[in-house]
Amino acid sequence: MNLHEYQGKEILASFGVRIQRGIVARNAKEAVDAAKQLTQETGTGWHVIKAQVHAGGRGKGGGVKLAKNLKEVEELAGSIIGMNLITPQTSAEGKKVHQVLIAEDVYYPGDSETNEFYMSVLLNRGTGRNMVMYSTEGGMDIEEVAEKTPHLIFTEEIDPGLGLLPFQARRIAFNLGLSGTAFKEMVKFVTALYKAYEQSDASLFEINPVLKTSDDKIMAVDAKVSIDDNALYRRKVYAEMRDLREENPIEVEAREVGLNYVDLDGNVGCMVNGAGLAMATMDLIKMAGGEPANFLDVGGTADAKRVEEAFRIILKDPNVKAILINIFGGIVRCDRVAQGVVDAYKNMGDAIQVPIIVRLQGTNAELAKEIIDNSGLAVHSAVQFQEAADKVKEVLG
Ligand code: GDP
Ligand code: MN
Repeated sequence: MNLHEYQGKEILASFGVRIQRGIVARNAKEAVDAAKQLTQETGTGWHVIKAQVHAGGRGKGGGVKLAKNLKEVEELAGSIIGMNLITPQTSAEGKKVHQVLIAEDVYYPGDSETNEFYMSVLLNRGTGRNMVMYSTEGGMDIEEVAEKTPHLIFTEEIDPGLGLLPFQARRIAFNLGLSGTAFKEMVKFVTALYKAYEQSDASLFEINPVLKTSDDKIMAVDAKVSIDDNALYRRKVYAEMRDLREENPIEVEAREVGLNYVDLDGNVGCMVNGAGLAMATMDLIKMAGGEPANFLDVGGTADAKRVEEAFRIILKDPNVKAILINIFGGIVRCDRVAQGVVDAYKNMGDAIQVPIIVRLQGTNAELAKEIIDNSGLAVHSAVQFQEAADKVKEVLG
């Protein structure tokens, strides 16, 4: 689950990571009130107005603006809220901005002593360990740095039993070229950051930029935070931070009915039981010349109701040209699934306009094929994997 910048910063602050102070606002008036409050608390006269959407590259898209007085706060907040922000990380239509973060300006104008670093904490899937990834080249496209000058990106692997050790925190500060107060501040910063990552069950904390001010403060100016979905049951406070407006509406609906669904770009909808079989089915579709439109694991109970829910979810995607149902009847009997498919199809009437290929294998597979074949519906049955692939190819033309 991804969070907004302001939510990520709240978590950071709760673990003692220094952040650029800010207050979230939903309209121009709230923005002005927020700016006034920040001026009282921090003494800042200038404020940055930052669009809160789940996408990076906001600065490039015009979603981060500096306001030098309250009038500019009002104008800029007014124009950013409600806009469709298009950034290198959004679709061509962009993302609607519902709220902005009003933050204290922490850059001192004309100051050559400020420095923007990159820092993230994430899981290295190759080694199965968390790592801190960091670079002196923060503030801009880290992807470009990784591609053109990979030697400027450092990593520090963390032993899960020991956590981030003091010498590692010092090595990071040293590699970032810091000394004196800034060095000590960076050691504190990265130590608190790692603690925040670990104790919030996050899968990613990305801080770009980490700012070093000319008076040697180290702080998070941006925060991209993802919390592991599987840990949300024990992180209720974070679970409540979920902003459904930012998520794929089909995935939101699927989650509500308990289906494990991931939206993809292709044209063949899949309905499968079991995550492993779902992956194999996606491979099968590719081999048949199609592209999977989704990953969908209906789980163990593929009864008529569930099959119907799955149909409805798959059909919400306008790109779907065919549906492949691939179910292994181990615990659930194939004939019952077949009956479920037939019943769901009948219940849905005209809603299903695309060809359906059903492959049922396992207990009572032959009986299931009979049920499908005798239903009189436009459903193609297959028992073998290859047969199913050939039928997909056939219906895609
Ligand atoms: P992103 O573009 O979505 O990654 O958003 P960021 O939060 O990283 O902001 C983009 C850029 O805005 C940063 O790289 C900074 O250069 C700039 N920025 C952020 N905060 C401030 C600030 O307080 N003052 C000034 N002058 N610039 C800022
Ligand atoms: Mn950023």
